Amino acid sequence: MPDLEDLYQQLIIDHNRNPRNFRSLEGANRTAFGDNPLCGDRIQLFLKVEDDTIKDIGFQGSGCAISQASASLMTQAVLGKSTEEAEALFRAFHEMVTGPRDLAPDRKLLGKLAAFAGVRDFPARVKCANLPWHTLKAALQGAKEPVTTE
Ligand code: ZN
Repeated sequence: MPDLEDLYQQLIIDHNRNPRNFRSLEGANRTAFGDNPLCGDRIQLFLKVEDDTIKDIGFQGSGCAISQASASLMTQAVLGKSTEEAEALFRAFHEMVTGPRDLAPDRKLLGKLAAFAGVRDFPARVKCANLPWHTLKAALQGAKEPVTTE
């Protein structure tokens, strides 16, 4: 039986190799660009938001496995959610990767996103995991400037 850590690692490897929703979006009404120069991660997000709901989402990008898998899993997690629910996920995710070690992630809320809980032990990787989420927040807020982790 593989333990939870192994399952999580496989999930990240799988999403890096076969990113979901990896496409630009025709008719996107929110977009944002995120950049993590420390690692060389780049994420372009495309959203179709109607009635405060994320009706469709896609991303394109390049960079390390953590950043690309995080973007892929994020698009799956927020698709069909209200913008408020997406912001709640942003907060829970952010807390999980930056919070103290003994703070257990809210697995019920986070689902597969809990795969990134181990990232908090690797400070250099936290920005990689967070980049897609900061980019999402910027897109939802209609930011004009690119997001950078620096
Ligand atoms: Zn990275």
